[in-house]
Amino acid sequence: MLEARSLTKRYTTTTAVDDVSFTVKPYEVLGYLGPNGSGKSTTVNIITGLLEPTRGEVLFEGRSIQSQLIEYKRRLGYVPEQPHLYPHLSGREYLQLVGRLRGLPKKSLDRKIDDLLQLFSLGAARHSVIASYSKGMRQKVLISAALLHNPDILVFDEPLSGLDVTTGLVFRDLVKTLAREGKIILYSSHVLEVVEKICTHVMILRKGRVAAHDTVESLRNLMHLPSLEDIFSELVLEQDTLTTASSIVDVMKSA
Ligand code: ADP
Ligand code: MG
Repeated sequence: MLEARSLTKRYTTTTAVDDVSFTVKPYEVLGYLGPNGSGKSTTVNIITGLLEPTRGEVLFEGRSIQSQLIEYKRRLGYVPEQPHLYPHLSGREYLQLVGRLRGLPKKSLDRKIDDLLQLFSLGAARHSVIASYSKGMRQKVLISAALLHNPDILVFDEPLSGLDVTTGLVFRDLVKTLAREGKIILYSSHVLEVVEKICTHVMILRKGRVAAHDTVESLRNLMHLPSLEDIFSELVLEQDTLTTASSIVDVMKSA
């Protein structure tokens, strides 16, 4: 089990995450939802051990991750929101580097890499440099890198950004399949619809605070409550988008 206990992260002028607690067990997918700037990536960075919280702690299998950081990271697969890829390497070389750093045996590593690249339709591009890849192709490389060592915990931060529709659907089924395999999954996103379809539990953040935390089923029933209505409308972008778009064009045309 993965447990976040009263996580708080303060920056000089903002409290990005404010007293957030949750648990994710094997076979569960926790959807971590909230509008832009609500503290999702900050939480994810704390959960993956990249950022220390101002207060609170993260426990894995009952022990603080700080006391077992190397072992914890070996059991974690993470798809970051901001990719740090090496542009001069090919997708295949990048995955070989990641695999070697994780100590995977070379023979099975090369086979796994080629199979994953093939399954993500990157077979033809596997020897081209990452600098030439589209955002979606880079995202597929990052997802492959997170899966390579068959980790027990998977953390995805806005994993669908740049992916085409088909890959998005494959990814959705992949998350469900991983959950069925008993993985612990944290899925951070600002897109309500996707989270609703694949998550067992949902946590909704607003300005760093927990606005709601429940099973997907219960939240569906709560969605009409005034306290959640605003948040959901921010998430599904039901603000008057047409008016905003017209205003943008007006500004463009103005002298
Ligand atoms: P989300 O992923 O939900 O869009 P973030 O966790 O990235 O939100 O950001 C939450 C808040 O914390 C935002 O107000 C953001 O500006 C602020 N923030 C994030 N990282 C930093 C940082 N390194 N220094 C200062 N403020 C930050
Ligand atoms: Mg983010």
